[in-house]
Amino acid sequence: MDKIVNLCKGRGLIFQGSEVYGGMGNTWDYGPVGVEIKNNVKKLWWKKFVTESENSFGVDAAILMNSKVWEASGHIASFTDPKMDCKKCKSRFRADNLIEEYSKGEIDVDLMSNDEMEKYIAEHKINCPRCGNFDWTPIRQFNMMFETSRGVTDENQNRIYLRPETAQGEFVNFLNVQRSTRAKVPFGIAQIGKAFRNEITPGNFTFRTIEFEQMEHQWFCKEGSDGEFYNDYKKKAHDFLTAIGINPEHLRFHDHEKLAHYAKSACDIQYLYPFGWSELNGIHNRTDYDLARHQEFSGKSMLYLDPMTNEKFIPYVIEYSIGADRLMLALMCEAYDEEQLENETRVVLHIHPAVAAYKVAVLPLQKNMSDKGRDIYRSLVKHFACSYDDAGSIGKRYRRQDEIGTPYCVTIDFETLENDSVTLRDRDSMEQIRLPISEIASYVNDKITI
Ligand code: ATP
Repeated sequence: MDKIVNLCKGRGLIFQGSEVYGGMGNTWDYGPVGVEIKNNVKKLWWKKFVTESENSFGVDAAILMNSKVWEASGHIASFTDPKMDCKKCKSRFRADNLIEEYSKGEIDVDLMSNDEMEKYIAEHKINCPRCGNFDWTPIRQFNMMFETSRGVTDENQNRIYLRPETAQGEFVNFLNVQRSTRAKVPFGIAQIGKAFRNEITPGNFTFRTIEFEQMEHQWFCKEGSDGEFYNDYKKKAHDFLTAIGINPEHLRFHDHEKLAHYAKSACDIQYLYPFGWSELNGIHNRTDYDLARHQEFSGKSMLYLDPMTNEKFIPYVIEYSIGADRLMLALMCEAYDEEQLENETRVVLHIHPAVAAYKVAVLPLQKNMSDKGRDIYRSLVKHFACSYDDAGSIGKRYRRQDEIGTPYCVTIDFETLENDSVTLRDRDSMEQIRLPISEIASYVNDKITI
């Protein structure tokens, strides 16, 4: 993990948040390369679950919502985590995370009560990860929502929250989307956006942050068809992960045995991160709970009228939710490699070409080839993001591109000036082929489409 963190910093993928002020815990800033990769992750997800998914529609709801939303959803009453304080260094941790990390994801903390967690921590003598002492307070529940207030009068009256999940923006727009699109159940509503949680536990880089992006999809269906759709989404979610480059051996389903009172079934897909098996995404059969609660709290009917049968019902919801930051981290862990070459170690990110920040790096061999190089760069960036580099030895330039996962390097040489052909080097095999400039875009486009 340290190697990935260092690479991310050195090559402009991810920096510590507020670094010049000594940083701020569990916040990270995406740099020029990182923002491209993360945008690609989000675009690919959107393409799969909205654009190419029949009867799915996107929304972009406000982050700040009427506080009643969070009363209805149950977040104000029970969006809590079990926290413990180290009495020695005064650091605060989540008891469930301490156990998960200690057991490398092998213990199912969802099944444990607070008493059982305290007992496990005592029996295994799990020390404070910060100061190494063993001197814990008992577990207490803490609400994880960030509060702020609106306006200047009575703070309690004007208390609002930064959303801890994007899903509620999809639920409260169920009727708007259904009516404006004339969608028939079953249909889906998806959203990508920021969510905020007052996470205390140190985050394992971008795995656990206080501000992160979620990609969530709610599938509204009729009771009775929910079981089949739940299984469908398990498969779709898994297929998406493998399509963008995750080895299926590094993924596993974790079916929840302890369910929320409203849920019919729930599972995570876990990824084998360097720190152990941990949740990458969740799939939940939430029954009609969310829409029924919003009906109750808002006083607005959430009934759907089936035009074929004239039946009125509140749809069931299959929720599929994945963090863009956690997914990007999994993709980097999967792709990072150190290859032993004759005289050096080559660091290379074997990231899927569709996800890579730049698809092509344009590298003129000599300075007097820069004009030609610039022309080629300008024509290629109309198709996909490219990088241009004409400084330093060609070997070093290749290595830089390998480290950020650029799948192809186009080299401009003397022959290019004579016959408009270039060499195209493949990141993974390091093999080079010669091809006409006019064919680069279609060659690369073929490889970056999933
Ligand atoms: P965890 O148990 O790891 O705290 P969760 O079960 O609370 O996660 P959900 O509420 O199901 O997570 O959120 C859906 C997805 O959002 C998660 O699968 C994860 O990918 C992402 N996510 C949740 N919390 C965070 C966080 N603090 N930082 C980054 N991503 C997160």
